[in-house]
Amino acid sequence: MSSLNDCIKFHLNIEDPNIIFSDYFKKYINGKYHNLYVAELIQPHCPYCLSSNLKHNGHYTSNVRFITADASHPVIIRLKKQRVLCNACLKRSMAQSNLINKGCYISNTSKRKILSALTEDRSMTSIAREHNVSVNTVQRVLESCSSKFYDDFDHLPEHLAFDEFKGVGKKLHFICLDGDTHKVIQILRTRFKPNILRYFYKFTPKARSMVKTVTMDLNCYYPLVARELFPNAQIVIDRFHMVQMLTRSFNSLRVQIMKQFKKQSHEYKLLKSPWKLYLMKYDKLNKTTPYYDWHFKDYLTQEHVVLDGLDCNKDLENTYWIMQDFMTAIQNKDEKQIIRLLNSKQTVGKQMHQTLLTFKHNYTGVLNGISSNYSNGCLEGVNRKIKQIERTAYGYNNFRHLLIRIRLEENLVKEKEPNNYFLVA
Ligand SMILES: [Zn+2]
Repeated sequence: MSSLNDCIKFHLNIEDPNIIFSDYFKKYINGKYHNLYVAELIQPHCPYCLSSNLKHNGHYTSNVRFITADASHPVIIRLKKQRVLCNACLKRSMAQSNLINKGCYISNTSKRKILSALTEDRSMTSIAREHNVSVNTVQRVLESCSSKFYDDFDHLPEHLAFDEFKGVGKKLHFICLDGDTHKVIQILRTRFKPNILRYFYKFTPKARSMVKTVTMDLNCYYPLVARELFPNAQIVIDRFHMVQMLTRSFNSLRVQIMKQFKKQSHEYKLLKSPWKLYLMKYDKLNKTTPYYDWHFKDYLTQEHVVLDGLDCNKDLENTYWIMQDFMTAIQNKDEKQIIRLLNSKQTVGKQMHQTLLTFKHNYTGVLNGISSNYSNGCLEGVNRKIKQIERTAYGYNNFRHLLIRIRLEENLVKEKEPNNYFLVA
């Protein structure tokens, strides 16, 4: 065997003994210099009867795209595949190699490298440019992976978390996570009740009875869905979501009261510029060191500002203290305090009243949310990651592509899967 052959094979990391390199040169194709290697793929014996009594019948030449370290110099292997006629069984065949699948022009090595690039936070266009293939090829490699997150219908995790995120076409998709391992169980195209029911009814009743808690925000039909699907499950309302609802209700009342005053008035300024102070925990407010405030032309502490602001309106004050007490009770996991707050008869803003009513409607869920250690925090992390994936790609048009990409970047694809696909095909 010539040393040129060994040298090129070592350089390109090709081990197939049936490929024999004979030449190399540079060629100018489509405005770029390509490194071209010429090789012959031999057929030592008939694939049907394994006889080596063959009659050679010319070659089939294909230009195989190969990986390269420098994207400005693409590598092409001009592979001449032997065509033979078997003298023993009279069947025709063409030489094949695991370098490339039958009928393909892109080497399996390139495909594997594209697949590993797809697990990173990169756009498909950038991957295509680096590997000298079209974006369609990258998409085809992506499609070769499965979009299933979880396919064991006999088993479900004990703790689930429900939420939704904005995805393809600005529609909201339903997402369900394992509360312990933080792995995605399923992402559904829509967040509507029939779809969620249809998916979870695929699981056996035994699997569904395994679920002990379902964490969710205060979406009106998630508790109904959970109660129907998981007979033994406790509904847990996410406590961060509760805090968010409380602060939102307070803010809307603050703005409403603020607008009753003239823009130049002291009250307007008190309610407008220091809005962040109202949302801070009361214990955390600075009560000792005054600072000069340009808006009020006076030395004030943070506590002063907040208390002066609350003096503008009685309802605002009540709403503020309900919000503060609720937040403290959530922090201290104080269920009695929550029950007392839910039944308080003070006059509060309209929206706060609505929020408290919603909490009363989901009484057990709210109490579970306060005593339980599970929350939707893990989901917010996953949602943030999904948002990043969408942003890198400037949005997805194809829901399946988005799912596979989420899966790839979550490292959920088993090591064996891509190799099997390319070699077996
Ligand atoms: Zn044969």
